[in-house]
Amino acid sequence: MSGTVLPDPTTFPDRACRGVPLDVFFPSRRKPDADARAKAICAGCPRLAACAAWAIPEVLAGRLSYSITAGVPMPPLTGGGVSPRKALREEAAAALAEVVRTARPIRLEGAA
Ligand code: SF4
Repeated sequence: MSGTVLPDPTTFPDRACRGVPLDVFFPSRRKPDADARAKAICAGCPRLAACAAWAIPEVLAGRLSYSITAGVPMPPLTGGGVSPRKALREEAAAALAEVVRTARPIRLEGAA
């Protein structure tokens, strides 16, 4: 890890999730296709790669759970509200790394 702190995607004025109700990105996993709307929004986001790159260390550290971030479902908390299990965090991080690898180039400028 280089120690570089990537900008939080919520600082990107052109993010596709701007103005979208938060519950779209925290869907009920009990509903079929609950993730579909968030995933579709992320797929068209100009900040997809930057968002995924930001999320990798966040999910590995246990700071992301439940949400759909960069089109990837974040793992649930364990019982008692503890950080998601390590294996699930690593699985989500791998999925995010694949998003970084395959998405359009990362844009970091313009964060404000
Ligand atoms: S990739 Fe998805 S969660 Fe990330 S900034 Fe874009 S729309 Fe929001």
